[in-house]
Amino acid sequence: MEFERPQIIRPPSERESYFLPLTSGCSNNTCTFCGYYGSKLRMREVDDIKKEIDAMALYIRNGVQLPTMPSIVYAVLQNWNQRRVFLQDGDALVYPLPKLKEVIEYLNERFPNLERIGAYATPRDILRRDVDELKTLKELKLGIVYVGVESGDDEVLQKVGKGVKHDHMVEAGREAMQAGLVLSVTVILGLGGVAGSDQHVLETARVLTEIDPDYAGALTLTLVPGTPLYKQWRQGDFSPISPFDSLRELKMIIENANFTDCFFSSMHASNYYSVRGRLPQDKSRIIAELEDILAKGDPVLLRPEFLRGL
Ligand code: SF4
Repeated sequence: MEFERPQIIRPPSERESYFLPLTSGCSNNTCTFCGYYGSKLRMREVDDIKKEIDAMALYIRNGVQLPTMPSIVYAVLQNWNQRRVFLQDGDALVYPLPKLKEVIEYLNERFPNLERIGAYATPRDILRRDVDELKTLKELKLGIVYVGVESGDDEVLQKVGKGVKHDHMVEAGREAMQAGLVLSVTVILGLGGVAGSDQHVLETARVLTEIDPDYAGALTLTLVPGTPLYKQWRQGDFSPISPFDSLRELKMIIENANFTDCFFSSMHASNYYSVRGRLPQDKSRIIAELEDILAKGDPVLLRPEFLRGL
């Protein structure tokens, strides 16, 4: 079956990267809030990936476009900074290790000045490999992994079908960092709904403290039509928190989490309000900013619903 190129879904910090698909879908397609729910994981053939890398090199060095390559390849190459590559898709780190090494080695041969390769990874993808294997990937310039932690609360994780628990998140995060990879994690405000809000927040702060990542980002739950959580909401089985309560959750997470040195942000388009800063240094400044917004309680200060993105 021919490999179908996935849509580009990438972390904001990878906006200038080249997006190279190794897989499509996600190996853990059971998360009830996620657009990847029910997606079929497909692996792309190594030869096919190498052809695309050759086409990238041909274009960058000679400006030649091959008619056999999809137009998106050249659209992305036009904005490429030639320093970073992001491996698609939902968890490219699931790609079998020998093949992953072969692809990354090939990429490095063709583009020796590459600075960093990045990918989404599930905790299971990380735990499937030992530290030395991750170190080998790091030597091949895999520099950053993005892990969706979502919540530290086992009850929430179980309800949303995340497939792993709090302790797995911590183990996977620490292993990636031990291998020298930069670790960027995301958590989702509102994932516990109204009923599970307090526990979600406190356990999420705890998991962030225990992982102690380089980067942590907060997203706000967006109910995606077609997902099981969307249906639960429509049927009255899930009560989402309000926009201002999402800021209360954010404040509580920042208050309760303890980081050594983490860049924390809620700049993602799903959030009603954006904060950013280095923690712990900027903790009081961010908390004061959120307290101010909460005290004012003026919806005008929030990102309007129609401008929120996934
Ligand atoms: S592991 Fe991540 S990408 Fe895969 S279904 Fe869950 S949230 Fe979506």
